[in-house]
Amino acid sequence: MKRSAMLDRYKRFVGEDLLERIYHAAEPLSGLRILHVNTTAQGGGVAELLHALIPVMDEIGIINTWQVIPLDDASNLFTAHLVDLLQGLEHGNIAKQDQQAFLDRLYSIALKSGVEQNQADIYFIHDFQLAPLATFFPRLRPAIWMCHVDTANPDPGGKAYIEQFLDAYNVCVFNTPLSIFKDLPQEKTHVITPTIDPFGEKNRFITQAKGLQLLARCGIDTTRPLITQVSRFGNWKNPWQVIDVYRLVKQELPSVQVALVGAMEAADDINAMEILKEIQGMAGDDPDVHLLYDPAVIKHPQVNAFQRYSSVILQRSTREGFGLTVTEAMWKYQPVVGTSVTGLRTQIIDGQNGYIADDTETCAKYTLKLIQDRELWHKLGKRAHERVKGNYLLPMMILQYLGALAKARGASEEPLLVRGA
Ligand code: UDP
Repeated sequence: MKRSAMLDRYKRFVGEDLLERIYHAAEPLSGLRILHVNTTAQGGGVAELLHALIPVMDEIGIINTWQVIPLDDASNLFTAHLVDLLQGLEHGNIAKQDQQAFLDRLYSIALKSGVEQNQADIYFIHDFQLAPLATFFPRLRPAIWMCHVDTANPDPGGKAYIEQFLDAYNVCVFNTPLSIFKDLPQEKTHVITPTIDPFGEKNRFITQAKGLQLLARCGIDTTRPLITQVSRFGNWKNPWQVIDVYRLVKQELPSVQVALVGAMEAADDINAMEILKEIQGMAGDDPDVHLLYDPAVIKHPQVNAFQRYSSVILQRSTREGFGLTVTEAMWKYQPVVGTSVTGLRTQIIDGQNGYIADDTETCAKYTLKLIQDRELWHKLGKRAHERVKGNYLLPMMILQYLGALAKARGASEEPLLVRGA
């Protein structure tokens, strides 16, 4: 099989064995056309993954196209509630009439988008918002559905809503084994671990001089310690706790600053503005709280600089299927102080390459420790980098992705699997 120069670049990180396995898995799938469908072209983990995956896949001969179906405000309100149910943050049934109103709207948005006119061999539908697509349009099959949120402990009402659409899919993909819906037949499930691209603008090495210059331009005093969380201003990212942690650390270390970096570009993130206002209220006139949300200012090099050259990185998520921001920071030699949510527990090994701490006081204690003991910070950071190198770089995801395609193709030659039959 023809080798891909783009894929071969990863050899120095992942070794030839993994590349061989990828070429071997790709061979029987050569020429296949895959259509990816999601709701946003920029912002959030799904868009990140597709931007990294698609060019490499094309080079190894599997033709990937991507269609974005943006939702309207009313639909985004419904799906914001739905994701809280799926992640078990809220409980209760979804009223039948709300469901129906959303489904009617989604159907007409999807119909107008012309998605069903797009010819492909396999349809890859991303995330919970669009799960009904393969039911709406039987032409979009064989189909794979990928769940990108933390469904380890879903509310039964939210799960039941999604499950009514899953018979139309040949394969259901989750981002960790912990998030797999327990009652799906095992042969229909698959895991794809999100990974990062070390060559991307966000992750490639930048010098300290350049990094500090970028931070200074964002208003940071680069001579003083900086605590950072990079995340959308979303409920489950818990920016409130970042401020609380900063305040506790500041009592011990008055020179400390904090940055919340979350460019507002994901159009479906409807609560972000409200949350930002709350955080602005909390910050008051403290000049050491930096809220960076302007997408014209916060681009990939800035995210890179914050992740690479902050003193400590926090990720205070209350739910997280898999936190790409954490992998990105770990790749940049940062031990992250995370929470015990599904994804972060998988990524961070407590005390080895970062810390897991849910409560504010313990998180503040570790944050201070990492700022004050740079030898410890350096030791854990090195292990954090190694963990990403061994597990979470793009080629590992490509292999799992090819596995999902092979499963969907194999399954499509059989009658569709019917749950519970
Ligand atoms: N991100 C970004 N700019 C920001 C904030 C986040 O580019 O200001 C990126 C971040 O680097 C990561 C992705 O958005 O690649 C977020 O993915 P994650 O899995 O952490 O969370 P999600 O937003 O999908 O819940």
